[in-house]
Amino acid sequence: VHKSKGLEFKIVFLIAATDSAFPGRRRGEVKIPKELLKEPKSFTQATHEAEMRRLFYVACTRAKEELYISYPLEVTATGRPIKRSRFIDELADAIDLPLIRAEVSASSQINVGALAAARAAEAVFLKTARGNDSYINDIEDESYADIVAKELADYFNFKKSRALISATDKAAVLKKFDDIIGRLINSPYSQVVKAEQFTAVILNKASESLAESGEAASKPVSYLDFLPVNEAGGMTLSVSDIILYQKCPLAFKFKYIYQIPMVPSPEADFGIFIHNVLQRFHSAYPRSEATLEKLLSIYDKGVKVRRLGRTTAEKQLIDKGRHALQLYLPDFLAAEGEPVFFEREFNWRIKNHRIRGRVDRADKLGDGTYELIDYKSGKSWQPKQIREDLQLSIYSLAVRQSWEIEPTLLSYYFLMENKKMPALRTPEELEVAQALVLSACEDILTEKFAPKVDFINCQYCDCRVLCPATEV
Ligand code: SF4
Repeated sequence: VHKSKGLEFKIVFLIAATDSAFPGRRRGEVKIPKELLKEPKSFTQATHEAEMRRLFYVACTRAKEELYISYPLEVTATGRPIKRSRFIDELADAIDLPLIRAEVSASSQINVGALAAARAAEAVFLKTARGNDSYINDIEDESYADIVAKELADYFNFKKSRALISATDKAAVLKKFDDIIGRLINSPYSQVVKAEQFTAVILNKASESLAESGEAASKPVSYLDFLPVNEAGGMTLSVSDIILYQKCPLAFKFKYIYQIPMVPSPEADFGIFIHNVLQRFHSAYPRSEATLEKLLSIYDKGVKVRRLGRTTAEKQLIDKGRHALQLYLPDFLAAEGEPVFFEREFNWRIKNHRIRGRVDRADKLGDGTYELIDYKSGKSWQPKQIREDLQLSIYSLAVRQSWEIEPTLLSYYFLMENKKMPALRTPEELEVAQALVLSACEDILTEKFAPKVDFINCQYCDCRVLCPATEV
């Protein structure tokens, strides 16, 4: 609430508005912004209550259109009744507008969670669609038409999900939306309608709570239909899936089972663009024909096609990207090893699981072994992060089997700083990495999706707005 001062939002949810929170008891460590302290600074319970009333007012007046205030009716563990905030009653007495009161039972949590998920997904979609509006005006490539059609299908799927949540006649809603989408989108995009899984989650699991216990045994319904289970009964995952699961199993579940779109930040999106530029450049020209002019020509064309440069931040990124490529090329031309593979895929079999990935670059060294290089577009990492990161360990294990080569050097290449940092891995560390991958696959198969709350990861998680774990 303190941080919301001066901000406004279309809809505001003020949750857990209990009397023990608003006003609560006076505590020395509670920090009230100076600008709210019009009372004398002697902290009695009365002045504390007056300050908390102002804070409650601040929270309520952040809403431009809708304000939802909620509080629990009891504490589940002890059954102790909870008193709602006295400020709610004061508010009800003070305004003429009718207060709409609704009690949400535990069994309807799925609807609350699903509604939040659908809203968040829709917001993410709209943000992406706005970012891609240039495609609609300037369709220069068949793939852009695909993107537009896919986004249209996604949009109606979100709308359908929203309608399904409250509909009693779900079959009628399904038919209506599928008809609309069918008329708008021709095959093969109509497949997107059928493949959309969020709808299935709402239909099949309506009675299930979003709250996570982390114990597979307590799950009434299996999620396996929504997971990438292969014909051998194991998982088929990408390296980034494994890394996401390692970071937070619940975030993985949001991605795979609830199909929450994860949109990269502008910086990460630009990083993908730089990767694509390098991929195009290296696939078009062998090292003997590589020149800076050719590289920058691909880069400039990409900037134009993507219509980058509309904001100051984008202009800065473009300059940084060009500068990075100017530094990259001389190092590439002078590299000791012979760059032989770019963006080469692997398919690593580990028991009955399959791990798929793609190595940015592999250089053949003088002794016949290889250096695996992973391009990064963000800031360079601290040695600890390099040491602990799983990605190059997985690459190293995977290419041994999949490409039948011996990688002796592993490096992260931080393009924006033109800094290549070696990532040394002992055989023991690689064994640990293999065990981690295996246990991640097994845990996913046995549906272990407990949240891993971490201050940094949660802050940047796309699912934080609907994650029950971050409410505590
Ligand atoms: S917000 Fe945190 S706990 Fe929740 S899904 Fe994201 S990373 Fe996991």
